[in-house]
Amino acid sequence: MPARRLELVDPDLCVGCMSCMFACSRRFGDSGLNYSAIHVRSVGGVERGFTVIVCRACDDPSCAKVCPTSALRMRRGGGVTLDAKLCIGCGYCVRACPFGAIFWDGVNDKPIICTHCGYCVDFCPYGVLRVM
Ligand code: SF4
Ligand code: SF4
Repeated sequence: MPARRLELVDPDLCVGCMSCMFACSRRFGDSGLNYSAIHVRSVGGVERGFTVIVCRACDDPSCAKVCPTSALRMRRGGGVTLDAKLCIGCGYCVRACPFGAIFWDGVNDKPIICTHCGYCVDFCPYGVLRVM
């Protein structure tokens, strides 16, 4: 069975409610937004809408290529998995992602990596996300 991956159905449907972000962060027991692997940003005012930034599950992930310790490894189905024990907190992966889709856990000095679990999908009231 192919591995699941999170996909954007249509970012133009996003109203910026951040429900997906709260849901994702909650996986780590955080009641705020600090650990979310998905981010919603305004693209310049309510009338211009929002953009959703999340890992695109690259088949040839540049984040993994630059990791000096192999803490990021290619994930079956695209994207990467993080072995936090190997991570030295250099942040190269954050700079390497062409989509700006790696966020930072400043408490533990580790990247926040989307696991493509799909938990956020059910919390989006507007059908912006899906798992395939
Ligand atoms: S921050 Fe960690 S995961 Fe990212 S490139 Fe550096 S060692 Fe690898
Ligand atoms: S974090 Fe960025 S570079 Fe890495 S697999 Fe996801 S989209 Fe690709």
